[in-house]
Parts: sequence; structure tokens; C-alpha cells
Amino acid sequence: MASLSLKHINKTYPNGFEAVKDFNLEIEDKEFIIFVGPSGCGKSTTLRMVAGLEEITSGELKIGDKVVNDVEPKDRDIAMVFQNYALYPHMTVYDNMAFGLKLRKVPKPEIDKMVREAAKILDLEPLLDRKPKALSGGQRQRVAMGRAIVRNPKVFLMDEPLSNLDAKLRGQMRIEISKLHQRLGTTIIYVTHDQTEAMTLGTRIVVMNAGVVQQVDTPQVLYDTPCNLFVAGFIGSPQMNFLDAVCQKKGDKVVLKVGPADIELPPSKAKKLIDGGYEGKTVVLGIRPEDVHDEQMFITSSPNTVIQAKIRVYEMLGAEVYLHFDYEGATMTARVDPRTTARTGDTVTFAFDAEKIHVFDKETEKTIT
Ligand code: ATP
Repeated sequence: MASLSLKHINKTYPNGFEAVKDFNLEIEDKEFIIFVGPSGCGKSTTLRMVAGLEEITSGELKIGDKVVNDVEPKDRDIAMVFQNYALYPHMTVYDNMAFGLKLRKVPKPEIDKMVREAAKILDLEPLLDRKPKALSGGQRQRVAMGRAIVRNPKVFLMDEPLSNLDAKLRGQMRIEISKLHQRLGTTIIYVTHDQTEAMTLGTRIVVMNAGVVQQVDTPQVLYDTPCNLFVAGFIGSPQMNFLDAVCQKKGDKVVLKVGPADIELPPSKAKKLIDGGYEGKTVVLGIRPEDVHDEQMFITSSPNTVIQAKIRVYEMLGAEVYLHFDYEGATMTARVDPRTTARTGDTVTFAFDAEKIHVFDKETEKTIT
């Protein structure tokens, strides 16, 4: 069993800086958990506390059923892969992977078996006699993973393991790590600031900001129902569009007034705003780029969700086009079909998919609907 339990974990550094505040999380056996958030939000500090490399100021950390706050890192049954996966340059791939086992005086035949098994899992078999300088970045990264695998830990901790690789290799290694997780069936905690990595790898994602956990959910739930403005803006690329809007009743309808446009809300969303006492108040309207449609591709539950804007930049990405425009002081993006005829300088009617509109409280930044 490699479940983990983090209860009311806090970290205050000796200089008084509170890097992690009241972190709570139950991790089940075999989960792939991602800690994601902007630089300095406390992801690495939390991971290092789990590893035992950083003292826990207060709170309780369990691995399995055992409280490990005071257990030495080497006795925690974890293996860590860092972003600067320093391999020993003078040793072969085989020896790099075997080194830790030799130190622990594991018998030679056993070492050989473990190294060859790990090499097989990671497709490193043809490279075992090479030195690190004769390997590509991705291959080196796999050796670093191999070093962790041979220890057969209950839990893998990975701190930005792909950040030194170029974009293409990162994409390939993401798939490798996913496969590895399936094959090994171990619990993984993985730190990244890259929301794409978080979305594609995690079974659950912990979004952090300024030392505080914002939301813990599956990638899909985080994307569809972010709990606040921060999560909504952080998860998703290009990011969600935000507009200040005034909530108004118009006959039996409820609209969000943005400049000259009245964006009509579907009944369920309208009810939440009225029940919440938002009539007459300024709220933040959020809409993802793929839910902003240019006129030809109109798919919306209500026709009264249109705005007009001049396209500042037309960006062709092959399978999709991003149309960037300004509207009422906000910079917005629509992600549309590449067959669109809209180009830079054109004035285009955009429609919002009303069912996909998010609304946030302007003061608390919490999601209303
Ligand atoms: P990054 O993505 O940049 O690595 P992170 O989310 O992993 O960021 P941490 O490394 O956990 O962030 O750091 C969290 C905060 O704690 C940062 O503001 C950092 O400056 C601060 N910090 C880290 N180590 C120490 C230390 N030894 N003493 C004081 N403050 C520290």
C-alpha cells in the first residue's frame, strides 16, 4: 500500500516566510498526483517535505499507515527524480542505474536483474554500455528514471523532470511517463508549473497559489468547473477570456451587460446569480476560447450572446485558428475552425456558447456558476 496522507501541513522557513499553508490531501494507492501552480507557490517545498528533505513545521504526514514526519528520507520508501538529473559522467548507463544498489550492498546477480528489468521498461537495453555524454536529453532523462525504478519504491516523487528538455522531447517523455505509471502501478507525485503537463499526466491535480491549495480535482473537472478565477485562468491554454459585466434583469431574462452587448444567461445560471443577490452588481464573465464562435460556426443555446469586434491578430495553427481581438478593455481569443474566412482587420460577430459561460464574484473571485 502506498497511500499518502497530508494533514494540516505547514512550512515556515527559518526567515519567517510561510511557503505552505494548511495543505490537506489524501492520496490513494497508484494515483498520479500533480502539484501545479506558478513559480514560488510552494509545490517543491511540499514535495520536499514528503521526501523528507525539508522539515515539516506543523501537521502530519503519513505514508501508508505510518506517520513519517521524523523518518529519515532513506527510510521512507520513496524515490525522487529531479529536474537536473545529474548522472555520473564517467559511468555507463548500467553503472549509473546500479550505483545506488551497490551502495546498499545488494548482491550482484540481484542488481543485474533489477537493472535489466528497468532498462527493459524504459527501452534502455541497447544503451546500457554507453556513457551519458553519448545520450540524447530524453535518453538521459530515462536513465534518471531508471535509477529511481531499480529501487522499487512505493512512491515516486518527480520535481519538474522534463523542464530541461525541448518541447518535442517533453511531449514524447510525457507519454513515456504515462506508460511507466501504468506498467509500474506505483503512486506518483509530480511537480510542474506547466498546465499542459498537469492536464495530460495527472489522475488528479492539486492547483496551488501562494502556498495555498486552490482546488484538487481530475483534469476534466478542473477544466469544466474551476472553483475560482485563479484556477480558471491557470488551467487551459490559451487561457480563459475574462470580461467585467453587470448582471441585469431584462423582462424574464437575466443578462450580463458588457459594453453594448447583453449576454443572455441560460435559466440555471440566471437563477444562481439572482438567488446570490448579484442583480445590479459587477461580476466577471469567463468564457473559454473554444466557446467563442465566429459567425459561420454559430453553435449556441441562445442567439442573444453576440459581440462584435475587430480582429487584431489571426493566428493559424494548422488544425485550428486563434482570432485575437480587444473587447471592452479586455484582450480576448477565439479558437475557431481553420476554414474561417475571418482575417486580421475584419470586424467579426462572435457568439458565446451560453451554457459554457462562467461567472465569478468580482471581490472574492469565487465561482458563482
Ligand atoms: P518553482 O516552480 O519556481 O520551483 P515552487 O512552487 O516549487 O516554485 P518553492 O520552491 O516551493 O516554489 O518555494 C516556495 C516559496 O518559498 C518561494 O517563495 C521561495 O522563495 C520560498 N523559499 C524556498 N526555499 C526557501 C528557503 N530555504 N528559505 C526561505 N524561503 C524559501
